[in-house]
Amino acid sequence: MPADTTTLAIELFVGLVAAAGLVGWLIHRLSLPIPYTVALVVLGVVAGVVLPIDIEVSPEIVLLVLLPGLVFEAALRIDIDDFRRTFGGDPVINANHSMNTENIYWGRDRLDGSVLRWLYGRMTPWERFRGHEEGSEWFWGDVCRQRTRYVRNFTFDGIDTLKINPAMPYHDPRRPYVNLWFSSADGSDGRRFTELIREENVARLERENGCCIVYTHFAKGFLQDGRPDPVWESRMRALAKRPGWFVPASQVLDHLRERPGGGGGGAIRWSERMSLSMRWALERLRDRRRAQNGKRS
Ligand SMILES: [Zn+2]
Repeated sequence: MPADTTTLAIELFVGLVAAAGLVGWLIHRLSLPIPYTVALVVLGVVAGVVLPIDIEVSPEIVLLVLLPGLVFEAALRIDIDDFRRTFGGDPVINANHSMNTENIYWGRDRLDGSVLRWLYGRMTPWERFRGHEEGSEWFWGDVCRQRTRYVRNFTFDGIDTLKINPAMPYHDPRRPYVNLWFSSADGSDGRRFTELIREENVARLERENGCCIVYTHFAKGFLQDGRPDPVWESRMRALAKRPGWFVPASQVLDHLRERPGGGGGGAIRWSERMSLSMRWALERLRDRRRAQNGKRS
């Protein structure tokens, strides 16, 4: 696309987004009995006739510009009943994500003890999570208790999650809207994941009959020049050759809950909960310090 066409495309895009916003505002303001989406279609048809649009919409533009917004919007609005209709059952696991306000018992509310909570609150004053707060517009604790079995809480550096948190999956009486909690290994991006599944870590896990549940974001740092990172790929291939039990986390957790001698999903002892939260807080502090040192150097 030549430069002037690109400028025109950007101007049109900004103009259309502004017009869409204006239409939404008008419908709301005048309480018009037209669905917003229908009004947008009409706007699009009118714009197509009136505007001097001669732009080729390539598949790349649809994929890179339009699709992410649509998928994100759809994900934000997904109804838990739609989930059941589509997948044939309720989600077994919920994992709170980053800064979502509807996160349940998140941020400082992950911690026990007023000192730890106060310290965490001082470090992250902007964070407030309200999924468990009755009366808040973000409250969904009742749905969480009725319809999901497990929620992930603390994440750790070590590969043997069960060794760090032997009581999992556990109930936490101070956080009654969650049936059962579990921990996971921190493989949050490509670098951490690749580091976690180093040969010696995996060998030790196997030797000690350990159990690892790992969480990640596959959109973060797994690609190199459009291909899977080669180190990650070779470590994953080596891992897959081992005689492990590779199943989704919900299956591992069901097994841990039902196995003889396991906790059976009972209440966690206060001391284990406290040691988990202290270890987690210390690891976060260390990460923060590393990030700050990294910025200075
Ligand atoms: Zn996330």
